[in-house]
Amino acid sequence: MASVRDILRVEPGTRADLASIDPSGTPGLPKQVGREPKTWSRERLVAIGEDLASLQERLYAAAKVDHAQARVLLVLQAMDCGGKDGTTKKVAGTMNPQGLQIISFGPPTAEEREHDFLWRIRRALPPAGCVGVFNRSHYEDVLVARVRSLVDEATWQARYETINAFERELAKTGTTLVKVMLHISFEEQSQRLADRLADPTKHWKYNPADVDERAYWPAYQLAYEDALSRCSTVDAPWYVVPADRKWYRDWAVASLLRETMADLGLSYPKGDFDVAAERRRLEHTVALMARRPAQAGR
Ligand code: AMP
Ligand code: MG
Repeated sequence: MASVRDILRVEPGTRADLASIDPSGTPGLPKQVGREPKTWSRERLVAIGEDLASLQERLYAAAKVDHAQARVLLVLQAMDCGGKDGTTKKVAGTMNPQGLQIISFGPPTAEEREHDFLWRIRRALPPAGCVGVFNRSHYEDVLVARVRSLVDEATWQARYETINAFERELAKTGTTLVKVMLHISFEEQSQRLADRLADPTKHWKYNPADVDERAYWPAYQLAYEDALSRCSTVDAPWYVVPADRKWYRDWAVASLLRETMADLGLSYPKGDFDVAAERRRLEHTVALMARRPAQAGR
Protein backbone atom coordinates (compact mmCIF):
# COMPACT_ATOMS: atom_id res chain seq x y z
CA MET A 1 0.00 0.00 0.00
CA ALA A 2 1.26 3.50 -0.84
CA SER A 3 2.33 5.56 2.13
CA VAL A 4 0.21 8.51 3.19
CA ARG A 5 3.22 10.67 2.41
CA ASP A 6 3.30 9.47 -1.18
CA ILE A 7 -0.41 10.17 -1.57
CA LEU A 8 -0.47 13.67 -0.06
CA ARG A 9 2.95 15.04 -1.03
CA VAL A 10 3.26 17.95 -3.45
CA GLU A 11 5.90 16.44 -5.73
CA PRO A 12 8.91 18.76 -5.79
CA GLY A 13 9.08 20.58 -9.10
CA THR A 14 5.38 20.16 -9.88
CA ARG A 15 2.57 22.69 -9.72
CA ALA A 16 0.10 22.32 -6.86
CA ASP A 17 -3.52 22.68 -7.96
CA LEU A 18 -5.77 23.13 -4.94
CA ALA A 19 -8.96 23.22 -7.02
CA SER A 20 -8.26 19.63 -8.05
CA ILE A 21 -8.03 18.43 -4.44
CA ASP A 22 -11.42 17.82 -2.80
CA PRO A 23 -11.32 19.29 0.74
CA SER A 24 -13.83 16.66 1.88
CA GLY A 25 -11.89 13.79 0.33
CA THR A 26 -10.20 11.04 2.33
CA PRO A 27 -7.23 9.99 0.17
CA GLY A 28 -5.22 7.08 1.51
CA LEU A 29 -7.88 5.95 3.94
CA PRO A 30 -8.15 2.19 3.44
CA LYS A 31 -11.54 0.89 2.31
CA GLN A 32 -13.16 -0.56 5.40
CA VAL A 33 -15.95 -3.00 4.74
CA GLY A 34 -18.92 -2.53 7.01
CA ARG A 35 -17.31 0.04 9.28
CA GLU A 36 -17.77 3.72 9.71
CA PRO A 37 -14.62 5.48 8.38
CA LYS A 38 -14.95 8.05 11.14
CA THR A 39 -14.96 5.42 13.88
CA TRP A 40 -12.11 3.60 12.18
CA SER A 41 -10.01 6.77 11.89
CA ARG A 42 -10.58 7.74 15.49
CA GLU A 43 -9.54 4.27 16.64
CA ARG A 44 -6.47 4.29 14.43
CA LEU A 45 -5.50 7.71 15.77
CA VAL A 46 -5.18 6.20 19.24
CA ALA A 47 -2.82 3.49 17.95
CA ILE A 48 -0.81 5.92 15.82
CA GLY A 49 -0.61 8.24 18.81
CA GLU A 50 1.01 5.47 20.85
CA ASP A 51 3.62 5.03 18.12
CA LEU A 52 4.21 8.77 18.02
CA ALA A 53 4.73 8.87 21.77
CA SER A 54 7.25 6.06 21.57
CA LEU A 55 9.12 7.62 18.64
CA GLN A 56 9.15 10.97 20.40
CA GLU A 57 10.56 9.37 23.56
CA ARG A 58 13.43 7.87 21.57
CA LEU A 59 14.14 11.23 19.94
CA TYR A 60 14.17 12.87 23.36
CA ALA A 61 16.34 10.19 24.98
CA ALA A 62 18.91 10.32 22.17
CA ALA A 63 19.33 14.07 22.68
CA LYS A 64 19.52 13.78 26.44
CA VAL A 65 21.95 10.89 26.69
CA ASP A 66 23.91 10.95 23.42
CA HIS A 67 23.57 14.68 22.64
CA ALA A 68 21.98 13.77 19.31
CA GLN A 69 20.89 16.82 17.34
CA ALA A 70 17.79 15.40 15.66
CA ARG A 71 14.48 17.18 16.04
CA VAL A 72 11.20 17.26 14.17
CA LEU A 73 9.16 20.28 13.13
CA LEU A 74 5.52 20.04 12.10
CA VAL A 75 4.51 23.19 10.23
CA LEU A 76 0.74 23.77 10.08
CA GLN A 77 -0.72 26.25 7.64
CA ALA A 78 -4.37 26.80 6.77
CA MET A 79 -6.99 29.37 5.99
CA ASP A 80 -8.84 30.73 9.06
CA CYS A 81 -10.87 27.96 10.74
CA GLY A 82 -8.77 25.42 8.87
CA GLY A 83 -8.21 23.34 11.99
CA LYS A 84 -4.66 24.13 13.06
CA ASP A 85 -5.62 24.28 16.74
CA GLY A 86 -7.68 21.09 16.58
CA THR A 87 -4.90 19.23 14.79
CA THR A 88 -2.37 20.39 17.35
CA LYS A 89 -4.60 19.18 20.17
CA LYS A 90 -5.37 15.80 18.61
CA VAL A 91 -2.00 14.95 17.06
CA ALA A 92 0.55 16.66 19.32
CA GLY A 93 -1.71 15.72 22.23
CA THR A 94 -0.69 12.09 21.83
CA MET A 95 2.89 12.94 22.83
CA ASN A 96 4.67 13.84 26.08
CA PRO A 97 4.38 17.60 26.73
CA GLN A 98 7.98 17.56 27.99
CA GLY A 99 9.27 16.78 24.50
CA LEU A 100 6.97 19.18 22.68
CA GLN A 101 7.32 22.82 21.77
CA ILE A 102 4.24 24.45 20.30
CA ILE A 103 4.53 27.97 18.91
CA SER A 104 1.81 30.09 17.28
CA PHE A 105 2.67 33.00 15.05
CA GLY A 106 0.49 36.10 14.86
CA PRO A 107 1.21 39.45 13.26
CA PRO A 108 4.85 40.35 13.93
CA THR A 109 5.45 42.56 16.96
CA ALA A 110 7.28 45.89 16.73
CA GLU A 111 10.49 44.15 17.79
CA GLU A 112 10.04 41.35 15.25
CA ARG A 113 9.42 43.85 12.47
CA GLU A 114 12.87 45.35 13.10
CA HIS A 115 14.45 42.08 11.91
CA ASP A 116 14.21 39.97 8.77
CA PHE A 117 11.17 37.69 8.56
CA LEU A 118 13.06 34.56 9.63
CA TRP A 119 14.39 36.09 12.83
CA ARG A 120 11.42 35.14 14.99
CA ILE A 121 11.24 31.75 13.29
CA ARG A 122 14.85 30.86 14.13
CA ARG A 123 14.24 31.74 17.77
CA ALA A 124 11.23 29.43 17.87
CA LEU A 125 12.85 26.30 16.43
CA PRO A 126 12.50 23.20 18.59
CA PRO A 127 15.51 22.25 20.71
CA ALA A 128 17.35 18.98 20.00
CA GLY A 129 15.23 15.96 20.88
CA CYS A 130 11.93 17.79 20.67
CA VAL A 131 8.98 17.75 18.34
CA GLY A 132 8.07 21.32 17.44
CA VAL A 133 4.72 22.45 16.12
CA PHE A 134 4.38 25.74 14.26
CA ASN A 135 0.81 27.01 14.23
CA ARG A 136 1.38 29.32 11.23
CA SER A 137 4.96 29.99 10.27
CA HIS A 138 7.37 31.84 7.98
CA TYR A 139 4.95 30.97 5.18
CA GLU A 140 2.67 33.77 6.38
CA ASP A 141 5.32 36.04 4.92
CA VAL A 142 4.47 34.80 1.42
CA LEU A 143 0.74 34.40 2.17
CA VAL A 144 -0.89 37.21 4.16
CA ALA A 145 2.08 39.48 3.43
CA ARG A 146 1.56 38.93 -0.31
CA VAL A 147 -2.25 38.92 -0.42
CA ARG A 148 -2.64 41.99 1.79
CA SER A 149 0.35 43.79 0.20
CA LEU A 150 2.19 44.18 3.50
CA VAL A 151 5.43 44.27 1.50
CA ASP A 152 6.16 45.01 -2.15
CA GLU A 153 6.21 42.25 -4.74
CA ALA A 154 9.99 42.15 -5.14
CA THR A 155 10.25 41.46 -1.40
CA TRP A 156 7.78 38.56 -1.24
CA GLN A 157 9.04 37.12 -4.52
CA ALA A 158 12.56 36.85 -3.11
CA ARG A 159 11.31 35.06 -0.01
CA TYR A 160 10.55 31.70 -1.65
CA GLU A 161 14.22 31.12 -2.34
CA THR A 162 15.20 32.48 1.08
CA ILE A 163 12.79 29.98 2.64
CA ASN A 164 14.19 27.10 0.57
CA ALA A 165 17.74 27.96 1.61
CA PHE A 166 16.65 28.23 5.25
CA GLU A 167 14.88 24.88 5.19
CA ARG A 168 17.83 23.23 3.43
CA GLU A 169 20.04 24.45 6.25
CA LEU A 170 17.59 23.11 8.84
CA ALA A 171 17.50 19.70 7.19
CA LYS A 172 21.32 19.58 7.11
CA THR A 173 21.58 20.36 10.80
CA GLY A 174 19.16 17.68 11.95
CA THR A 175 15.69 19.22 11.74
CA THR A 176 13.17 17.08 9.89
CA LEU A 177 10.34 19.19 8.56
CA VAL A 178 6.79 18.02 7.97
CA LYS A 179 4.91 20.85 6.28
CA VAL A 180 1.16 20.46 6.16
CA MET A 181 -1.47 22.62 4.52
CA LEU A 182 -4.89 21.87 5.95
CA HIS A 183 -7.12 22.35 2.92
CA ILE A 184 -10.69 23.43 3.74
CA SER A 185 -13.45 24.62 1.43
CA PHE A 186 -14.99 28.09 1.40
CA GLU A 187 -18.30 26.50 2.48
CA GLU A 188 -16.73 24.68 5.40
CA GLN A 189 -15.14 27.92 6.57
CA SER A 190 -18.60 29.58 6.50
CA GLN A 191 -20.00 26.75 8.56
CA ARG A 192 -17.22 26.91 11.13
CA LEU A 193 -17.52 30.69 11.45
CA ALA A 194 -21.31 30.30 11.88
CA ASP A 195 -20.72 27.62 14.53
CA ARG A 196 -18.43 29.96 16.41
CA LEU A 197 -21.04 32.71 16.31
CA ALA A 198 -23.75 30.34 17.51
CA ASP A 199 -21.83 29.22 20.58
CA PRO A 200 -20.83 31.80 23.21
CA THR A 201 -18.07 29.47 24.46
CA LYS A 202 -16.51 29.78 21.00
CA HIS A 203 -16.72 33.56 20.71
CA TRP A 204 -13.14 33.87 21.92
CA LYS A 205 -12.08 32.11 18.73
CA TYR A 206 -14.18 34.36 16.51
CA ASN A 207 -12.37 37.16 14.79
CA PRO A 208 -14.51 39.66 12.81
CA ALA A 209 -11.48 40.21 10.55
CA ASP A 210 -11.80 36.61 9.33
CA VAL A 211 -15.01 37.61 7.51
CA ASP A 212 -13.19 40.43 5.70
CA GLU A 213 -10.41 38.04 4.80
CA ARG A 214 -12.91 35.77 3.00
CA ALA A 215 -13.10 38.37 0.21
CA TYR A 216 -9.49 37.45 -0.57
CA TRP A 217 -10.11 33.69 -0.76
CA PRO A 218 -9.04 33.28 -4.43
CA ALA A 219 -5.90 35.35 -3.87
CA TYR A 220 -5.04 33.21 -0.83
CA GLN A 221 -5.58 29.99 -2.78
CA LEU A 222 -3.20 31.25 -5.46
CA ALA A 223 -0.64 32.34 -2.88
CA TYR A 224 -0.89 28.90 -1.24
CA GLU A 225 -0.40 27.19 -4.61
CA ASP A 226 2.74 29.24 -5.23
CA ALA A 227 4.15 28.47 -1.78
CA LEU A 228 3.35 24.77 -2.14
CA SER A 229 4.80 24.61 -5.65
CA ARG A 230 7.91 26.67 -5.08
CA CYS A 231 8.79 25.40 -1.61
CA SER A 232 8.01 21.70 -1.76
CA THR A 233 11.51 20.25 -1.85
CA VAL A 234 13.06 16.86 -1.31
CA ASP A 235 14.52 18.13 1.97
CA ALA A 236 11.27 19.69 3.15
CA PRO A 237 8.20 18.52 1.21
CA TRP A 238 4.73 20.01 1.51
CA TYR A 239 1.68 17.85 2.07
CA VAL A 240 -1.88 18.94 1.33
CA VAL A 241 -4.35 17.36 3.76
CA PRO A 242 -8.05 17.62 2.88
CA ALA A 243 -9.45 19.04 6.11
CA ASP A 244 -13.22 19.45 5.90
CA ARG A 245 -13.56 16.17 7.81
CA LYS A 246 -11.77 16.55 11.11
CA TRP A 247 -11.42 12.82 11.75
CA TYR A 248 -9.67 12.34 8.39
CA ARG A 249 -7.46 15.39 8.94
CA ASP A 250 -6.23 14.12 12.32
CA TRP A 251 -5.59 10.62 11.00
CA ALA A 252 -3.72 11.96 7.97
CA VAL A 253 -1.49 14.38 9.88
CA ALA A 254 -0.70 11.79 12.55
CA SER A 255 0.12 9.29 9.79
CA LEU A 256 2.43 11.74 8.00
CA LEU A 257 4.26 12.41 11.24
CA ARG A 258 4.54 8.75 12.15
CA GLU A 259 5.83 7.73 8.73
CA THR A 260 8.41 10.52 8.84
CA MET A 261 9.59 9.77 12.37
CA ALA A 262 9.69 6.03 11.72
CA ASP A 263 12.20 6.77 8.94
CA LEU A 264 14.60 8.53 11.30
CA GLY A 265 15.95 5.22 12.64
CA LEU A 266 15.39 6.27 16.24
CA SER A 267 16.45 3.81 18.91
CA TYR A 268 16.84 4.03 22.67
CA PRO A 269 20.37 4.96 23.78
CA LYS A 270 22.36 2.16 25.33
CA GLY A 271 23.45 2.78 28.92
CA ASP A 272 27.21 3.08 29.44
CA PHE A 273 27.08 0.94 32.58
CA ASP A 274 27.21 -2.77 33.41
CA VAL A 275 23.61 -3.76 34.13
CA ALA A 276 24.50 -6.84 36.21
CA ALA A 277 26.98 -4.88 38.31
CA GLU A 278 24.44 -2.10 38.89
CA ARG A 279 21.84 -4.64 39.94
CA ARG A 280 24.26 -6.05 42.51
CA ARG A 281 25.08 -2.58 43.82
CA LEU A 282 21.37 -1.83 44.13
CA GLU A 283 20.73 -5.06 46.03
CA HIS A 284 23.62 -4.21 48.31
CA THR A 285 21.95 -0.94 49.36
CA VAL A 286 18.75 -2.85 50.13
CA ALA A 287 20.70 -5.32 52.27
CA LEU A 288 22.49 -2.46 54.06
CA MET A 289 19.23 -0.78 54.99
CA ALA A 290 17.76 -4.09 56.17
CA ARG A 291 20.60 -4.32 58.71
CA ARG A 292 19.81 -0.83 60.04
CA PRO A 293 16.07 -0.93 60.77
CA ALA A 294 16.06 1.97 63.22
CA GLN A 295 17.64 4.37 60.74
CA ALA A 296 15.60 3.07 57.84
CA GLY A 297 12.41 3.87 59.76
CA ARG A 298 13.28 7.50 60.29
P1 AMP B 1 -4.82 33.18 14.55
O1 AMP B 1 -4.01 32.08 13.97
O2 AMP B 1 -6.30 33.02 14.36
O3 AMP B 1 -4.46 33.46 15.98
O4 AMP B 1 -4.47 34.51 13.75
C1 AMP B 1 -3.17 34.95 13.63
C2 AMP B 1 -3.14 36.09 12.64
O5 AMP B 1 -1.80 36.50 12.51
C3 AMP B 1 -3.63 35.73 11.27
O6 AMP B 1 -4.55 36.69 10.83
C4 AMP B 1 -2.37 35.80 10.42
O7 AMP B 1 -2.61 36.21 9.10
C5 AMP B 1 -1.54 36.80 11.18
N1 AMP B 1 -0.11 36.62 10.89
C6 AMP B 1 0.66 35.57 11.18
N2 AMP B 1 1.91 35.74 10.71
C7 AMP B 1 1.92 36.94 10.09
C8 AMP B 1 2.91 37.67 9.40
N3 AMP B 1 4.15 37.21 9.25
N4 AMP B 1 2.57 38.88 8.91
C9 AMP B 1 1.33 39.36 9.07
N5 AMP B 1 0.34 38.71 9.71
C10 AMP B 1 0.63 37.52 10.22
MG1 MG C 1 -8.13 33.05 13.62
